[in-house]
Amino acid sequence: MTDIFENINDCCVKLKIDLCGAELAKIAADGNYTAETMEALSHLFTYLSTKKDAAMVQDILNKSRLPKSAPKTFDNFDFTRIRGQDVERIKGISSLATLHSGSNITFVGPPGIGKTHLAQAYGYECAQRRIKVYFIKATELRDKFNRARKSGSTASCVNTLVRYQCLIIDEIGHCKFDKENTMLFFDVIDRRYNKEGMFNTVFTSNKQPSQWKECFEEEDALLCSLDRIFDNAIVFNLKGKSYRGRKLKVVNVQVDNLNHEDK
Ligand code: ADP
Ligand code: MG
Repeated sequence: MTDIFENINDCCVKLKIDLCGAELAKIAADGNYTAETMEALSHLFTYLSTKKDAAMVQDILNKSRLPKSAPKTFDNFDFTRIRGQDVERIKGISSLATLHSGSNITFVGPPGIGKTHLAQAYGYECAQRRIKVYFIKATELRDKFNRARKSGSTASCVNTLVRYQCLIIDEIGHCKFDKENTMLFFDVIDRRYNKEGMFNTVFTSNKQPSQWKECFEEEDALLCSLDRIFDNAIVFNLKGKSYRGRKLKVVNVQVDNLNHEDK
């Protein structure tokens, strides 16, 4: 019986229902509830709590901008392609210890190596654990900043990006951030840096962080941003061949000239 009351108590906490195990025990005793009735109640509470949990995960995923169909996960990432002495460290990111310790992550490497896949898998894992996550490509971030500047809503734009516990910025270096956008980028980084608790930012890039200044215009703001990003961070340098093109088939055929004399 104790387990049943504990379970219902835990479910009530999750469901934000103001009913504790002791209260329920009294109701059960006063009403002469049978063990079967209590089992049924426990089953019902578990069902409701599981349903609420699943809805919460779905809500986080819906707001995250991570792909909904065929999501990239750690499960569908082929880690056997990765070799080297730090393999375990890259595998270990699925524990989200980096998020708990507020450590930022940067995946650097050539196209098709799996940077975006790993960043999205990290985001997907966050959502599974009810951690609010947001995925955005650098070009989309630039466009978002441009729109906010036009409509005079830069403050709320920055506020939104600061709110997510995990912010993933994909493909840094694919586009230029002008002076004002670099200042807004700094605002986001600085505000996130000063937050307490579980917060981190994940980047992917074809370029080493030392080359990022080529893509931002206001150098001081960028240097201050980099200072904060890499104050507590882990950089994964991925080397090797692109995963893309695995299904590419090349067919070479010889076509002879039509020789009239052969006719
Ligand atoms: P990048 O961002 O480095 O350019 P992506 O992460 O977009 O590359 O990877 C390109 C494609 O290859 C994606 O469809 C991705 O899911 C797949 N891919 C890359 N590396 C792996 C891997 N190790 N296991 C499974 N799929 C991979
Ligand atoms: Mg990519």
